[in-house]
Amino acid sequence: MPEEMGTGSADARTTAEIVLLDRRKTVIGRLRFRVCRECRTGRILEIWVLDTWQRQGLGRDLIHSLLVHLPGLRWSTTPQTRLGRAFFIAMTEETSVPFPPLSPLCTHLAGRFTRVWRGVISRWRPASADSETRLP
Ligand SMILES: [Zn+2]
Repeated sequence: MPEEMGTGSADARTTAEIVLLDRRKTVIGRLRFRVCRECRTGRILEIWVLDTWQRQGLGRDLIHSLLVHLPGLRWSTTPQTRLGRAFFIAMTEETSVPFPPLSPLCTHLAGRFTRVWRGVISRWRPASADSETRLP
């Protein structure tokens, strides 16, 4: 049975993950997600299982771990492939938790990209200002 690593501190500012390791500590499965504790929403960004470990219920284990660590949240996912869609429909039947693709994000989760972008721009500006406002 693969072992599981912790989720760390999952909040709107960071992408958290649950990682499955085999006995040699090789990563064989990964679930990446972001949550907003304020709005109790979460977005699944990626669920991945190594080829040789597929069809053994590891994806299912990852979703169950997620729901145990973070119960009662409203979940959504990034766009789903056809396989992904079948998987999430099965998980919804099993857990009664819906995982719709691309339902709207709360402002905290949606806002992160804006802040990152602004951070890049504001770091860029002082540098050019220092060099006597010369344009490149
Ligand atoms: Zn929020």
